[in-house]
Amino acid sequence: MNKKNQDKFSAESLVVGAGHDPSSVLNSIKNPIFQTSTFMFNTAEEGKEFFKKYAGAETLEERNQSLIYTRLNHPNLTAAEFRLSQLDGAEDSAFFESGMAAISTTIMTFCKAGDLILMSSPLYGGTDSFIKHTLNQFDIEWLEFEHRATKEDIKAMVASHPRADRLKMIYIETPANPTLSLTDIGMASSLVQELSTSGNRPILAVDNTYLGPVFQKPIAHGADLNLYSATKYIGGHSDVIAGACSGKEELIRQVKGLRTILGCMASPFTSWLITRSLETVTLRMEKQAANTERLADFLKSHNKVKRVYYLGHLTEDHTDFRIYQNQQNSAGAMMAFEVNGGEKEAFSFLNGLELAKLAVSLGSTETLASHPYTMSSSNMDEQDRLKNNITPGLIRISVGIEDPNDLISDFDQALNQIQ
Ligand SMILES: *Cc1c(COP(=O)(O)O)cnc(C)c1O
Repeated sequence: MNKKNQDKFSAESLVVGAGHDPSSVLNSIKNPIFQTSTFMFNTAEEGKEFFKKYAGAETLEERNQSLIYTRLNHPNLTAAEFRLSQLDGAEDSAFFESGMAAISTTIMTFCKAGDLILMSSPLYGGTDSFIKHTLNQFDIEWLEFEHRATKEDIKAMVASHPRADRLKMIYIETPANPTLSLTDIGMASSLVQELSTSGNRPILAVDNTYLGPVFQKPIAHGADLNLYSATKYIGGHSDVIAGACSGKEELIRQVKGLRTILGCMASPFTSWLITRSLETVTLRMEKQAANTERLADFLKSHNKVKRVYYLGHLTEDHTDFRIYQNQQNSAGAMMAFEVNGGEKEAFSFLNGLELAKLAVSLGSTETLASHPYTMSSSNMDEQDRLKNNITPGLIRISVGIEDPNDLISDFDQALNQIQ
C-alpha cells in the first residue's frame, strides 16, 4: 500500500492489509514469514547505504528498503509495528518477544543510575519485581502511590524524596492486574507537567494490556508511551508471547536502539502471528466485552456468589467511576467474583467448569478461570493480598468469544456443585 492510500483510510481498515505490499512478494495476499537471519546487499555500496539509512530511516518504506540483519529489523516486525501504531494513534510502535521484554527495555531506555521512578500500585507481578528488585541493582529507586492517592498526596511524596529532581518516569497500569483498580491517565499527565523542571521532564508510560488497543487510548490522554503484553488481547489466541511499546517516533527510536543491543525484538514468526491477530482484535474484544457484561450480570444475582468485580457495574458514587467514564470506552472483558466461602468452595467451582479452562493469562478467544490467591498473586504478602481484595474465595475470569448462553450455563452448573 502506498503512502497516499495510508493517509486516506482509517485505522480499522489499515489494520487489515497495511504494512505489507503484495507486489513485493509474488502477489501473496498475506505477508510471508521471512524466516531469515540476514539480508543480501546487491553491492558493497548498497550495504554502506543501508547502514546509513537504518540509522536515519523515517518511513516504513525506507526501513523496509534497508534490511540488514533480523535483530535490527525485518519485514514481519515492521508490518506488525505499522498496524499497532495505527490502532494506538501513535507515530511508531516497537514489538518485543514478551511483554516483560517491552516493559524492561522501555524503562531501561529512559532511566539511568541515580534516577527515580514513580509508579502506581499494584502493578503486574513481573513489572513490580523488575522495578523493585532488578533496577535497584543499577541504582534506580522507586516510589509507589496507592490507588486513590490524590495528585497533591503524590506531589508531596515526590517532593520529600532526595531524588525528586531525578524523577525520570511515571509508570502506571490501568486497569491494574488483578484488582481492576483505575489510575487517572490525565491526572498522571498533569503530574508530568507539574513535576518537570528546566532540566528534566519525566516520561509517562501506561501499561494498557487490559484494554488496549481497542478500548483505551492512553496517548490521547497525554501518555508518552503505551505498553503491552501482546500475549494477551493483541495476540488473542493463547499461542504467542509478545510485547509492545507505542509512542512518538523520537521516543520509540530510542527504545528500538536499546532493543537492538539487548536483542529482544519480536521474531519473524511472533511478528507474523501478531500481524494476523491485529486484523481481528477489535472484533474479538467487542465480542469478549459483550459476553463479559452478560456473565457479570448473571453472576451478580447468583446465590453462591458474594461479590462481583466488573468495571461495568461501577456506580456513580464509586471513586473510579469518573475515571472509568473519561478514559475508557468499554468495561473490557476481565472480571472477578468471590464465591460464598473460601478456597474449598472456589476450588469446587473451578474443578466443576466444563467449558471454561483453568489457566493463568488472559485476553484469548477461550474463557480462562484462575485463582489469584494461590496462583498469580501467591507470592504477595497475605496482608497485601487481602488489602487488594485477593481473598481465598476470589476467582478471576478472562472472558472469551464463546456463546454467552453456554458460558452462563457452565458457570451456573459449576457454582451449583459447591456444597
Ligand atoms: C501478562 C502481563 C505482563 C507481562 O507480559 P508477558 O507477555 O507475560 O511478558 C505485563 N503487564 C500486564 C498487565 C500483564 O497482564
